Amino acid sequence: MLDINWIREHANEVEEAARLKNMSLSIKELIDTDDRRRELITKVEKLRGQRNKGSQKVGQLMKEGRKEEAEQLRGEIRELGGSIEQWDKELSETEKEYERQMLFVPNIVSKDTPIGKSDEDNVLVRQVGEVTVRDFVIKDHIQLGELHDLFDVPRGVKVSGSRSYYLKGDGVLLHRAVQQLALDIVMKHGFMPMDVPIMVREEALINTGFFPTGRDQTYALEEEDKFLVGTSEVPLISYYAGEVVDVTEPIRLAAVSTSFRSEVGSAGRDVRGLYRVHQFAKVEMVVLTEANDEVSERVHQEITSYAEQLLEALELPYRVMAVCTGDMSQKTYKQYDIETWMPSRQAYGETHSSSNLHDFQARRSNIRYRDQDGQLKYVHTLNNTAAASPRILIPLLENHQLEDGSIYIPKALRPYMGGREIITCT
Ligand code: AMP
Repeated sequence: MLDINWIREHANEVEEAARLKNMSLSIKELIDTDDRRRELITKVEKLRGQRNKGSQKVGQLMKEGRKEEAEQLRGEIRELGGSIEQWDKELSETEKEYERQMLFVPNIVSKDTPIGKSDEDNVLVRQVGEVTVRDFVIKDHIQLGELHDLFDVPRGVKVSGSRSYYLKGDGVLLHRAVQQLALDIVMKHGFMPMDVPIMVREEALINTGFFPTGRDQTYALEEEDKFLVGTSEVPLISYYAGEVVDVTEPIRLAAVSTSFRSEVGSAGRDVRGLYRVHQFAKVEMVVLTEANDEVSERVHQEITSYAEQLLEALELPYRVMAVCTGDMSQKTYKQYDIETWMPSRQAYGETHSSSNLHDFQARRSNIRYRDQDGQLKYVHTLNNTAAASPRILIPLLENHQLEDGSIYIPKALRPYMGGREIITCT
């Protein structure tokens, strides 16, 4: 959420951000509603002031024994009370409408964000690692999964419907090993590991900017009036909602959690295998910093590099893309996606997403700190995927397959796989 005074002063910039993010927004309508809200606040305050003065006068008249005059004034005050009630009702309806409209205002984007319509316009920042050309016919992750009995999609679908799966045997071990390696990497960089609630109130999703725009992506637990999170970014940010925090040093949190996505709008896309599923595990980094563009930009580069460290440890070729305006969500100020080489797709596929939200989430979640002059300010918030599995298993299995179908285990992963160097064909 942006500050309304700032929005009023930068109406064109905000409208332009909405246009670039493919969102429809009428700033004029919002400003009209805000004008009406301000008018009503002044009106109600004025009437309340009149009522207070009148009540004091009644007291005075009674003291002076001027009962008749006091009675007449009482009648006028009663009428005023009725009128205040009516205006108050209109004010609260206008406030509600104003808050509703404010929830749709997008964050502005950083000056260095590429302008574009869709992910096709994202810009390559760097490419790391060599894509190996094999001199044998490669298997895709589904064939490798079958060969080593790593997962079972048909039975997942039988039990849970489309985009579901079971992981089995070495599939589970790899899944857990990658997550633990990712957690160990971010802990080395000062992240506090957290285990978080993944069933949250609506408020947490509104405050972190996932609702109302992303509501259809989220599973609701109707009876509970709660929702299953699509990322632990929601509970991690909400941990500090409504609080004044100390960000002398950035606050670094990491959670390992299950994530749920309805994937509405992805019908027919990536239906084979483990790429796009409804339930997956994610190690997520979240950072809160002071409201200083240089600091949050530095942290953004850092958290992006921590995800890259995982991919380097996994010996996987990847590239970092600067995400363009049209591929950004409402809340994002600046974003990098990291894409890892997936041989069966003959393409890079997104495995990590690193974002700076500036003070957008902090305003909605009311997370502040005191600056050096003791002034309260909203923090900046950032997040990045440390590892998301099973999607990361796709490049891991496919890039590290050997001619006979065995899977090479990268050195960094071996301590988490009982020291094994290879998953052999039996
Ligand atoms: P996001 O929070 O949408 O930026 O996603 C972060 C990471 O989670 C992505 O880069 C993927 O690795 C993973 N991910 C997101 N959605 C899915 C999905 N439906 N199935 C599997 N992995 C996903």
